[in-house]
Amino acid sequence: MKQKELLDFDKKHIWHPYTSVEKPLPVYAVKSAKGCKLKLENNTELIDGMSSWWAVIHGYNNKVLNKAVKKQLKKMSHVMFGGITHKPAVKLAEKLIEITPSQLTKVFFSDSGSVAVEVAMKMALQYRHAKGQYAKTKFMTIKSGYHGDTWNAMSVCDPVTGMHSIFEKGMTKHFFSEQPKSRFNDIFNNDDLFSVKKIIQNNGHEITAFILEPIVQGAGGMWFYSPQYLNEIAKLCKQNDILLIFDEIATGFGRTGKLFATEYCDFQPDIMCLGKAITGGYMSFAATLTNNNVAETISGTDPGVFMHGPTFMGNPLACAVANKSINLLLKTNWQEKVHNIENVLNQELEKCKDLKNVKDVRVLGAIGVVEASKNVNSAKIQKLFVEKGVWIRPFGKLVYLMPPYIISNSELKTLTNAIYEVLKQDVYE
Ligand code: PMP
Repeated sequence: MKQKELLDFDKKHIWHPYTSVEKPLPVYAVKSAKGCKLKLENNTELIDGMSSWWAVIHGYNNKVLNKAVKKQLKKMSHVMFGGITHKPAVKLAEKLIEITPSQLTKVFFSDSGSVAVEVAMKMALQYRHAKGQYAKTKFMTIKSGYHGDTWNAMSVCDPVTGMHSIFEKGMTKHFFSEQPKSRFNDIFNNDDLFSVKKIIQNNGHEITAFILEPIVQGAGGMWFYSPQYLNEIAKLCKQNDILLIFDEIATGFGRTGKLFATEYCDFQPDIMCLGKAITGGYMSFAATLTNNNVAETISGTDPGVFMHGPTFMGNPLACAVANKSINLLLKTNWQEKVHNIENVLNQELEKCKDLKNVKDVRVLGAIGVVEASKNVNSAKIQKLFVEKGVWIRPFGKLVYLMPPYIISNSELKTLTNAIYEVLKQDVYE
């Protein structure tokens, strides 16, 4: 199939994320990827600034991860997890328990981040059911958050950007507190807790759990907030019998400069969701971890089982590559690499502050964000980036980078320069 035929068929028949099938935004056909480069069907090479949405931390076509998949493939690519277990899953669970907060000792494997969030929410609800706390059926979260696109995950995404209005009739309404304004490096402002306290005071008896993305709100706004806010939320949850769920699907595995953003907090969550980079971006896979209290409470009361069991639960290929990806991360000097990316992003994106339509520039770990004062025109800006040999995919007012950790300084500078040069132009809606 030639590039043109491929794109024509795609345009006519295939949905891409958040697009129309009638008037789709242009897509680019990638034929292969290696290291930090995507190769298009027309042989153009693009430096990747996205890690395929936080996931590909070791780069594409990584030798060690390829080998892990091939080795596992020869043994078995899949086997059901009902009534069966296997080494790749056991080893992975052991590793996750070792590297996540000490109280998280029980692991539920699933097939995507959104499902890991659904599982976390169901765990919280089953916990309340087991305790006879039948009134505690609501969740609390922060505006501008993102937790996935499945039904319940969506119900705790930002009501505006998550388009709740479209699904209003069928969706449970949960409680949304204001987004914390205290930035990551700011002195914490207690005003950030005002709406949280008010909601808990009025509705605490209905709230089963508080779900949030620790430190970095990702797809809902790329916002980095104060660790003290997280501590205060954890304290309020403890005081008011509200479970704490940390969604580390985007932040996990080093992205923020800590192995997990949870480490910026003095308290441990009751439930934690992992996904994306767990397999180094090789395949869709996720995990929900919880502590003994939640697990034993669910198991101790009728029906005594946790009611979830996806077909591809604990997929051996995914577990095998996840094991290798985590080993690779821990064996390499990932902190130094992330720190270096942070330094380069800080130095190089600073100049964007001088641009007319740029409102804010912020960097944390291997994440760099340039926030414009107006929405960018996605199709136009994407084309200009591709012409500059980079793959950067902005949304709304946000142009951002989260490259693979293996990126070189010169590749990184090509990405940051492209942002600066492109944002000088008329790329706004
Ligand atoms: N939670 C967070 C914080 C995310 O960033 C995402 C994905 N962007 C999800 C959940 C959903 O993950 P998935 O797309 O794998 O379902």
